[in-house]
Amino acid sequence: MSDQVAIEFRNVSRIFSVRHQDQVGTVRAVDDVSLKIRDGEFFSLLGPSGSGKTTSLRMIAGFDRPTSGQILLYGQDVSNLPPYERDVNTVFQDYALFPHMTVAENIAYGLMIKKVAKEEREKRVDEILDLVRLTGFSGRKPSQLSGGQRQRVALARALVNHPKVLLLDEPLGALDLKLRQQMQVELKAIQQRVGITFIFVTHDQEEALTMSDRIAVFNQGKIEQVGTPAEVYEHPSTPFVAGFVGTSNLVDGETAKHITGSASKFSIRPEKIHLASSGANVEADMFFVDGKVRDVVYLGLYTRYLVELSGGGDLVVVEQNLKTTSMDVMKARGQAVRLLWKKEHVRYVEG
Ligand code: ADP
Ligand code: MG
Repeated sequence: MSDQVAIEFRNVSRIFSVRHQDQVGTVRAVDDVSLKIRDGEFFSLLGPSGSGKTTSLRMIAGFDRPTSGQILLYGQDVSNLPPYERDVNTVFQDYALFPHMTVAENIAYGLMIKKVAKEEREKRVDEILDLVRLTGFSGRKPSQLSGGQRQRVALARALVNHPKVLLLDEPLGALDLKLRQQMQVELKAIQQRVGITFIFVTHDQEEALTMSDRIAVFNQGKIEQVGTPAEVYEHPSTPFVAGFVGTSNLVDGETAKHITGSASKFSIRPEKIHLASSGANVEADMFFVDGKVRDVVYLGLYTRYLVELSGGGDLVVVEQNLKTTSMDVMKARGQAVRLLWKKEHVRYVEG
């Protein structure tokens, strides 16, 4: 990794106009984002669905333009350059392989377009097949490959052009857990071998934590924090980051029924839950559940609690440390508590 800046966002916003019934409204998909990504970094854009990750990536690729602000690629303002004049390539989640072409033809396609000579093309395809461990598969069609192999062909096709920057939008999202974990390791190894900048979009905090040199945590179009995995995990700078990174709460079945009166599965964000003493008063607009603190992690500005619920299951709670010290919060372990949150913060989810 070098100190050279590969990509810079200067106060970038992307505002969409949206029609809802007869009204025209606006969505601030990306909201005044400033960011510097270094050459050779494995950099992740992490955030929940709808937080502006894909829109940011599309603006780097040139598929979309900022409403205001500038995007620089190696110091050059590319805000108004078309995609093919930018030295970046994108790997999409759905791979977008040509079904009628072989693996080798899929990979060589970009080089053909660029009129690279046949001999050079074949040499580069062979090199890349070796890099993604698909030597021997060059004559197969995409339909004759597994999901993980298809993903590697998509990666090879993007890398064969030797771009300076590779953009990956949830590239492992379609794979099952085991294969995804295997591909995480492989993708990271490939990035280290080729040494180019990877910008990796994911909503999966664990994935971002294991793979990245640095992470930008997105929330509602804004970046809440940029840092190394250890920094965002151990020193979250906002309650959102403290709640999002490393944790999420999903409640269903009997526990859900006990809390809301319905067995519908719901999510509740850790920073929306208030940790109160047992027997605390409950307002009419709140849900509550009783439990016992099983684990405490002191994060400096915040503390993360794992609370075992009396009716089964557990919930993660994040509280700001206003006057408390690490000694104070540690005393919470084993204590009976009541968890309270506003009903409006509950999100019902399918499945
Ligand atoms: P993410 O990739 O983090 O899930 P996106 O960047 O796709 O988020 O979307 C951010 C926000 O912008 C969402 O509210 C989304 O609905 C909105 N959005 C994205 N693309 C468009 C579009 N073409 N028109 C209108 N709204 C859009
Ligand atoms: Mg997206």
